Amino acid sequence: MFPAAFDYRAPTRLDEALSILKQHGDDAKVMAGGQSLIPLLKLRFAHPELVVDIGRLPALNAIKRDDGHVSIGALTRHVDIEHSRELASSAPMMVEAVRWIADPLVRNRGTLVGSVCHADPAGDWGSVMLAFGADIVARSQAGERVLQADGFFQGPFTTALRPDEVVTEIRIPVWKGHSGGAYLKLERKVGDFATVGVAVQLELDAGKVASAGIGLTAVGPHNLKATEAERRPSGFFTARSRRTRASSRLPGLRRLPRNRRTTCAGAPPTRRTSFVSSSSAGSGPRSGARGRSGHEGLT
Ligand SMILES: Cc1cc2nc3c(=O)[nH]c(=O)nc-3n(C[C@H](O)[C@H](O)[C@H](O)COP(=O)(O)OP(=O)(O)OC[C@H]3O[C@@H](n4cnc5c(N)ncnc54)[C@H](O)[C@@H]3O)c2cc1C
Repeated sequence: MFPAAFDYRAPTRLDEALSILKQHGDDAKVMAGGQSLIPLLKLRFAHPELVVDIGRLPALNAIKRDDGHVSIGALTRHVDIEHSRELASSAPMMVEAVRWIADPLVRNRGTLVGSVCHADPAGDWGSVMLAFGADIVARSQAGERVLQADGFFQGPFTTALRPDEVVTEIRIPVWKGHSGGAYLKLERKVGDFATVGVAVQLELDAGKVASAGIGLTAVGPHNLKATEAERRPSGFFTARSRRTRASSRLPGLRRLPRNRRTTCAGAPPTRRTSFVSSSSAGSGPRSGARGRSGHEGLT
């Protein structure tokens, strides 16, 4: 299927892009890597009069350490994140999560910011942003707004962005102290969108959880922040009792019955436990699904 006819502009300055968007409002669509927008155009799920290609705007493709956060510019592609030394040391979950996204072809063109703005409830980055507590920086002719990831996702393919805004960067806070995280995804085959996914970022203090961030993929109308579950493990979550307490005490999540758990084909059994959000409790992970090679599946 061919897209409906549209005009195309490729500004080379941000102020020019903002002026075009102000002028055209809802009739214009920003394009970064085009990995989600172009399929939508071809299927005629989107039919803007104008596509504004931001791919030629300078200085939007950097990954920079700033005051307490890492700034990831709007043109930073998934592949740039995969190879970023800065992120590998300050936010390693980013580098782990990116390997779950699509395939190298998509990762070579698609961007983190485009993915977050696309707001697919089955998109992986949204959960990672919620777990980290990222900030999304949007610019328009009216100025700059800094939006928290929590609240940014408002429904399927719907965000808090206005039509005249361009996201210029996403800020990933660098968690202090002894911290780390993981992204786990269940997919039918390598490269698929998530059947279910979970991002968890923890900060430990003397073996106990000082704070936690949890984001869930493909269990609701948009990526969900498991706010209550984040509060519960604080202070009592020791390594020794981690498994039983995780399974029994996280509200909003319940342990799957043994006969509904899936294991990663070919992978050794792990001590991780399957969880399913209460909102998707009826469906659960599909049997036969397997994790990405090199990752443990949800078991
Ligand atoms: C075959 C295939 C498999 C995929 N598998 C996965 C997967 O497993 N997991 C996953 O999470 N994703 C997956 N994706 C989606 C993909 O990773 C992202 O959605 C894509 O990379 C979005 O980035 P982009 O730069 O291409 O955005 P675009 O397609 O250019 O734009 C997407 C949307 O964001 C808006 N937008 C883009 N940049 C900005 C900006 N700076 N400011 C404001 N609005 C903006 C656009 O207007 C559009 O609405 C897959 C895609 C394909 C084609």
